[in-house]
Amino acid sequence: MSRFWSPLIKNLVPYVPGEQPKMANLVKLNTNENPFGPSPKVIEAIKAELGDNLRLYPDPEGLALKEALSAYHGVDPDQVFLGNGSDEVLAHIFQGLFQHGEPLLFPDITYSFYPVYCGLYGIEGRPVPLNDQFEIEVADYRQPNGGVIFPNPNAPTGRYLALDVVEQILVANPDRVVVVDEAYVDFGGQTAIALVNRYPNLLVTQTLSKARSLAGLRVGFAVGHPDLIEALERIKDSFNSYPLDRLALAGAVAAYEDEAYFEQSRQAVISERQRLTAGLEALGFEVLPSKANFVFVRHPDHAGEALAQALRERGIIIRHFRKPRIAEFLRITVGRADQNDVLLNALPDILA
Ligand SMILES: *Cc1c(COP(=O)(O)O)cnc(C)c1O
Repeated sequence: MSRFWSPLIKNLVPYVPGEQPKMANLVKLNTNENPFGPSPKVIEAIKAELGDNLRLYPDPEGLALKEALSAYHGVDPDQVFLGNGSDEVLAHIFQGLFQHGEPLLFPDITYSFYPVYCGLYGIEGRPVPLNDQFEIEVADYRQPNGGVIFPNPNAPTGRYLALDVVEQILVANPDRVVVVDEAYVDFGGQTAIALVNRYPNLLVTQTLSKARSLAGLRVGFAVGHPDLIEALERIKDSFNSYPLDRLALAGAVAAYEDEAYFEQSRQAVISERQRLTAGLEALGFEVLPSKANFVFVRHPDHAGEALAQALRERGIIIRHFRKPRIAEFLRITVGRADQNDVLLNALPDILA
C-alpha cells in the first residue's frame, strides 16, 4: 500500500497466473500449454519479419490477420477483433459490453479471470453454481443480467456444452451479450462462430495460446456482429492502438496457413488425453469427461493438495485450486507421451 495509489488499486484482487518455474527438467503440466510446439512455418514467418522493419509500427488494424481469420471461419473481416491474447480481448469486452447495472452471470467454477475483470471495471459478478456433475444448467441463465460469459469447454472442468444448448442461452438473453470463451474448443468441441450471423448478441473468443501452441506470442481474437466488434475497436483505440506487434501478426497469419500441422497437433493432444484418462482411471481416479487439453480429476482416497505436493517433490507440476467444491481436484494438462508417462509412473508410489 502506498499513498500514491489510486483508490481502485487498494481493493483490486489480481489474477494469479499459473507458475512458470525457472527450474529445468520439470514435467510442466500446470498451465495448459500445448507441448507439441508451434508449426515450423510460424517460426519461419517470424524470422522473415525480423529486420529493419521493426523500426516501423505494425499495422494498427492487423488486417492481414483479420483476413486470414475471417476466411478461415467464414465471416467478414469486420466481424473480427484482435487482441494481445484473448485475456486482453476479454478485458475490453468487460469494459465495453458488460456494464449495464445488472450482475454479470458466469459459472461458479470457471476461469478465474472473470471475477478479476469484474473488480477492475466495477461490474457486479454473479457466480451461477454448476450442477453436481459440474455442468452448466441453462435454466439458471434465465434471470435478469448484465451479460453472460462462460468458457466452452469450461475450465478447469473440461466439460463441453453442446451448441444447441449454447443456443438456448442466446435465445434466453436477446438483450444481453453472451460471450463464449473458446480457448479450448479445438480439442473436440464445435465452435459457436457458426451461430454469430443469427445471433447479434453472441461474441465468441478464441486464442492461439492453446491449440496452436503460441502462448508466448500473445494473440487472441473475438468474432461477432460488427456492432459488437466496433465497441471493442473503440476501446482498443482508446487504450493501445498496437496490441499486436509485427512478429505476432506474422506468426499468427502463418499459423492459419498450416492447417495440416494444426490438425496433427490437436489430434495428438486428443489421443494423449484418452490415454492419460485411461491411465488415471486405472489408478482409481475419477476423471471428468474433457474436451480440453487438460483433465480434471480427483482420487477418492487422497487429498488434492497432498497429491499436488507429492508430485511437485518428484518434479511434476500440475494445478491445484484451493477453492470451495474443487479443493480435492487436480487439473492436469495433457503433455507429450513421455511427460504423461512420467506422471502415470510416479503415481502408484504416491498412492501406495
Ligand atoms: C488460457 C485461457 C484464456 C487466455 O488465453 P490467452 O489468449 O493466452 O490470453 C482465456 N480463457 C480461458 C478459459 C483460458 O483457459
